[in-house]
Amino acid sequence: MLLMKKNHNISVVIPIYNEEENLPNLTKRLVDVLCRYAQFEILYVDDGSKDRSVEIITAQAKQHPSIKLLKLSRNFGHQEAITAGLAHCSGDAVIVMDGDLQDPPEVLPLFIEKWQEGYEVVYAIREKRKEHIFKKIAYYIFYRLMRYLSNIEIPLDSGDFSLMDRKVVDLLNKIPEKNRFIRGIRSWLGFRQTGIAYERHARFAGVPKYNLTKLFLLAYNGLTSFSTRPVKVATHIGLLFTGVSFFGIVWLLYHKLILKTEVIEGWASTLFAVLFLSGVQLIIMGIQGEYIARIFIEVKNRPNYIIGETIGIEPKRKNEDIKEAS
Ligand code: UDP
Ligand code: MG
Repeated sequence: MLLMKKNHNISVVIPIYNEEENLPNLTKRLVDVLCRYAQFEILYVDDGSKDRSVEIITAQAKQHPSIKLLKLSRNFGHQEAITAGLAHCSGDAVIVMDGDLQDPPEVLPLFIEKWQEGYEVVYAIREKRKEHIFKKIAYYIFYRLMRYLSNIEIPLDSGDFSLMDRKVVDLLNKIPEKNRFIRGIRSWLGFRQTGIAYERHARFAGVPKYNLTKLFLLAYNGLTSFSTRPVKVATHIGLLFTGVSFFGIVWLLYHKLILKTEVIEGWASTLFAVLFLSGVQLIIMGIQGEYIARIFIEVKNRPNYIIGETIGIEPKRKNEDIKEAS
């Protein structure tokens, strides 16, 4: 029997990057949904927006004390903004969602219900996506590839939209990894996890901040932070080619020395074989380089984000103590 959780201190962490058109609607819908809970906070993490997002949030925070702002010093990226928000929220249950209304606020009570039933992580599974066909295909391939490659089970089609218990958030905050792929770490942490299916809406307004390159980088990051399988695949390819060429050499020598027949004809085949293998070698070097680059980033040990200003919350660290903070 799962333990019922009674306290209702809910935090909602939302990364914001140029979402001025979505903010009024988002806050209204969130407050409508959350006002039935005893205590809640909406923590907007401004990730260096260049539009009026900060102004709008500041005005909203004056009206509702439960609206808070954590402004980063520049654009650090979606995952970093979420990381900053998770470190600064106070709820017993913390919900992470996007600021473009693709994740409907009306789903939150379902998350909270599951949490009250005793689940420590409740993640949303996208049933239908209202996005460009190309993006849909890219996501489809990514999640399947991730499942094949990663050493842990990341639920298919679940993004960052989720609820986490305080216990999980505290652990997540303690993980020192710099290259953060939150949905992966969340899965890796374990505990009782469950999924809720929902229909992912189209963006309410504005343009997606993730272009294809950024999405590709996120996918790449996800694949390489959670799996060392690409390196193993590289070794297997290397072994395969070495094996094939070894038998090729034996076959050639047999013809030349025993049968005394000439089998070498044409340069094109030789040239292509060399080119092909050079390509394979470069790819393998690239894969290895990727892991070395990751070591480089971790060793530098820079903090994931720098705090600019805050409204309604105390910054957890001072930017002067960068070394300590990281
Ligand atoms: N976002 C952010 N920093 C960035 C890019 C995006 O904080 O550098 C925020 C953005 O405001 C939104 C969420 O992350 O709330 C998801 O971004 P977007 O909707 O562009 O991603 P998509 O839905 O296309 O994956
Ligand atoms: Mg979006």
